[in-house]
Amino acid sequence: MEDKLIIYNTLSRKKELFVPQHAPHVGMYVCGPTVYGDAHLGHARPAITFDILFRYLTHLGYKVRYVRNITDVGHLEHDSDDGEDKIEKKARLEQLEPMEVVQYYTIRYHKAMEALNVLSPSIEPHASGHIIEQIQLVENILKHGYAYESEGSVYFDVTKYNKDHHYGILSGRNLDDVINTTRELDGQQEKHNPADFALWKHAQPEHIMRWPSPWGDGFPGWHCECTAMGKKYLGDTFDIHGGGMDLIFPHHECEIAQAVASQGHPMVRYWMHNNMITINGQKMGKSLGNFITLDEFFSGTNNLLAQPYSPMTIRFFILQAHYRSTVDFSNDALQAAGKGLERLQEGMKNLNRITPSEQTTGVDFSGLREKCYEAMNDDLNTPIVISHLFDAIRMVNTVVDKKATISADDLHELKEVFHLFVCDLLGLKAEAEDNAAREEAFGKAVDMLLEERMKAKMNKDWATSDKIRNRMAELGFEVKDTKDGFTWRLNK
Ligand code: ZN
Repeated sequence: MEDKLIIYNTLSRKKELFVPQHAPHVGMYVCGPTVYGDAHLGHARPAITFDILFRYLTHLGYKVRYVRNITDVGHLEHDSDDGEDKIEKKARLEQLEPMEVVQYYTIRYHKAMEALNVLSPSIEPHASGHIIEQIQLVENILKHGYAYESEGSVYFDVTKYNKDHHYGILSGRNLDDVINTTRELDGQQEKHNPADFALWKHAQPEHIMRWPSPWGDGFPGWHCECTAMGKKYLGDTFDIHGGGMDLIFPHHECEIAQAVASQGHPMVRYWMHNNMITINGQKMGKSLGNFITLDEFFSGTNNLLAQPYSPMTIRFFILQAHYRSTVDFSNDALQAAGKGLERLQEGMKNLNRITPSEQTTGVDFSGLREKCYEAMNDDLNTPIVISHLFDAIRMVNTVVDKKATISADDLHELKEVFHLFVCDLLGLKAEAEDNAAREEAFGKAVDMLLEERMKAKMNKDWATSDKIRNRMAELGFEVKDTKDGFTWRLNK
């Protein structure tokens, strides 16, 4: 195992050598979706970013426990302490049980992630399945004096906490900034300070998603779940916590405060955040009318899309940018990504068509593997990995064009490097359409061969017809002659 992975830690605001606290074990937590609607690009980016990290750490030999939660309770509208629960609102509008909404969109989320070739996390806990742990967390914070009860709700005392610790350490804010930017909302009178956030909310009579607690019936505040479930599955201190940059404040800031207030020390060693996605230069949002779900991308059924874009095109497009840079989706950019991906996959197919020579001449593939590792080790710099692979593809094509030669050893190494980085680490797989097209061409080729056999039979050229039949039987084909011609199938 080569311990050379450098990652950018949002907390220290610098790149740091990644050293797990209990190597070879690595604990990694990523905030998952709130399942009240179809997955969109905003879900694809963190999922793919941390999929790359998960794949790479595993490849380096670490035993990674990757926890990615499902938020199914407590996430209120506008990410605030007031407003309706997002799941409950959807359930009310659709006249469904909240858990029907959760089930439906969780399954759809999984399908979209599978299409994007995002590996499943090791554990995918639901917030609603960890109410007891969240109540315990709130009790611990109360016990340490950093929270107060008010009208059946419990709030985190940000002012008190900030006297002993730094509230705003992750987002680089100070308490005055936070207070000045906090919107005044209904129900704020329950709080001592507008910056205080809910740990437990009292449930109004009409609120469906409710659980008994020491403070009466209610539901947990949104930030509690990740602290409670992170601790349960990864321990008091774990290695990596990730998510989108939009979660830095308030969500992750609050998580840090909850962890320190409940156990006296931070829980997370490295904080990692992916940057945001814009659409034609604009933030994506339902109110802006530029909201495109992943399914719409895959099927092309959205007015903003000039055509469907395959899941691998979306994945490749996201990986063409460094995860800490913004990505702007446009039809032009996606079409260019589609072409780039095709060139990469075409180049890989060409590798299988090359006949090696005595030695490599006219091209130099040396150091490709090292260069790709170097880029991955530099804070998962996937665009640089991709550019190294394209350099190699250009050289492969000169070999295909017979303007250069490659030795058997170099060819073998090249195939291995491509397989490792393209398939295993970047997770780019051949598309289903590609497979379907291949199946079709294969079928037609078999038909053509069997038609030649029929012709041979009609011409009483038994030698040729027997040779084709026998050879095909050896290859596992079962051919039957029928009245109108033939049928065949491949026995595997
Ligand atoms: Zn979270």
